[in-house]
Amino acid sequence: MPNPFSSFFGRRARRQEAVIESDTRELRLSREEETVFDNNGSVETTERVTSIIEGGERITSHLQVVGQCTEAGCDRFLTHHSIRECFCGKILCPAHAGWDEQEKRFLCGECMRILRRRRRWQLLWGLLTAPFIERRNNDS
Ligand SMILES: [Zn+2]
Ligand SMILES: [Zn+2]
Repeated sequence: MPNPFSSFFGRRARRQEAVIESDTRELRLSREEETVFDNNGSVETTERVTSIIEGGERITSHLQVVGQCTEAGCDRFLTHHSIRECFCGKILCPAHAGWDEQEKRFLCGECMRILRRRRRWQLLWGLLTAPFIERRNNDS
């Protein structure tokens, strides 16, 4: 254990590392802080933060990460800004979620295909009038 009084003049370094592990990937972030005290009483702190770029978005802290894209082969880590959720429960990145103007929400590719097919039938037969969400399990 270092003596806390001995470091009053000098330097103190602190390093924090956070690792986020998913089934497919690992995200490692670190943050180093060095504080220099000189005998004139001035204190100077320098900070070094490692960051990664995920799909054009900078991630500097594990606290930013709230999910991961479930699309096969993507595995992008997502923040509050980039996370998209389809109502089937799939978590997606912006590249794998499509905005549907009629539903006013993001959809995964599969739900989008189902929805388009249903709309085509609706158009043809005018039979399917119940909301999409209640009928999605009956889709053939
Ligand atoms: Zn994705
Ligand atoms: Zn979906």
